Amino acid sequence: MHVDTVINARWIIPIVPKNCLLENHSLVVDEGIIIDILPTEQAGKYQAKKTHYLTDHLITAGFINAHTHAAMNLLRGIADDLPLHEWLEEHIWPAEAEMATADFVHDGTLLAIAEMLRGGTTCFNDMYFFPDQIALAVKQVGIRATIGLPVIDFPTRWASNIDEYLTKALAVRDQYQGDPLISFSFAPHAPYTVSDSSFARCQPIFDELGICTHMHVHETSQEIEDSHKAHDTRPLNRLKDLQLLGPNFIAVHMTELNDEEIELLTTYGVHVVHCPESNLKLASGFCPVDKLIKAGVNVALGTDGAASNNDLDMIGEMKTAALLAKGINAKADTLPAHTVLEMATINGAKALGLDDKTGSIEIGKQADIIAINLNQLETQPVYDPVSTLIYSASRSQVTDVWVNGTQQLKGGQLTQMNIKELINKATDWQQKLAHFHHKQCKIDA
Ligand SMILES: [Zn+2]
Repeated sequence: MHVDTVINARWIIPIVPKNCLLENHSLVVDEGIIIDILPTEQAGKYQAKKTHYLTDHLITAGFINAHTHAAMNLLRGIADDLPLHEWLEEHIWPAEAEMATADFVHDGTLLAIAEMLRGGTTCFNDMYFFPDQIALAVKQVGIRATIGLPVIDFPTRWASNIDEYLTKALAVRDQYQGDPLISFSFAPHAPYTVSDSSFARCQPIFDELGICTHMHVHETSQEIEDSHKAHDTRPLNRLKDLQLLGPNFIAVHMTELNDEEIELLTTYGVHVVHCPESNLKLASGFCPVDKLIKAGVNVALGTDGAASNNDLDMIGEMKTAALLAKGINAKADTLPAHTVLEMATINGAKALGLDDKTGSIEIGKQADIIAINLNQLETQPVYDPVSTLIYSASRSQVTDVWVNGTQQLKGGQLTQMNIKELINKATDWQQKLAHFHHKQCKIDA
């Protein structure tokens, strides 16, 4: 039988079924779809246009970065070592007000896509201004993305009022409707930046379109205190009263949760995205991931933007998530390696409603596949490839990446993007933004 691609691998971790490891197996891809997974000794029945011999490699599903702000790659390192509200209100928002133009978003998103592909991320869930520019960058390269259609109660360069946010959002959604790689979410920034009337204006429209909601919720204790002052209730309860919660709702961060709220998330089928490195860096708090998973909540993993992480490295994020949960629970068997790998793949796909397409290596799914070379000093010897991936490997060991069957990274090299151009653009933006840089120390002349 003639097919497009056969990948012969040392190890395949299909993610589904759970805890499964296939040794010396081959993946067969045709027209972007995984059509077979079989022992390599039987793969001779397929005549492939391209055969890959990845005999030192672990093959698994591409990572899904379930929460980021891709364009913020251009703000990486601009204001570090600050708490969330000071970071946001005194540094990030002023820089964005002046500089976050269409070009900024396009260039920053391309930079982030390149970083994500090199680290094995094949799909990302984004939230930023100028979703038209994000979609353009996604299309130019061919990565998979869910693009947030932003709503926030103050004017930005993208839109000046709620009606304009809404009109522009719907126009972008209409332009890319039916695209095989792009889907959209309604992305109200956070409970403290969107009023009840704005929710009431937008939510019915997005509900009718079947678009999921992607929002920062319960990021810090201050958010809870402020909500008590402004609305006399906790943010999650307010969202419940506004009838926003449901299986189409993706709540990012969730560092402040009591037992009743965890029950609420379970009852409504809300998805949670855990961003451990951003929460640690901004000292925002800790999401009770272990409790959530035990309660049956789907928990995915995200890096958040590069201004608060400061990288988009899903392998690093998995290790942080695993170690943090063990430390908080004082129990070493909390969040074992395979569980964090699920968070970084299939759980992200479930949150985005893309689990029929991506998030695991299964026959009939689209070929979003990554290869990691474990035959390197730092990852030898290999007793358990999943443990090696989570606890020892680094993203520089990702050698090959396919999205929808198209090879995006080949032997460590990006196939669709010019790194030198991306770095030049990043440097140009750094020079334009340099006066926003938060300096930690001054040396008097
Ligand atoms: Zn965020």
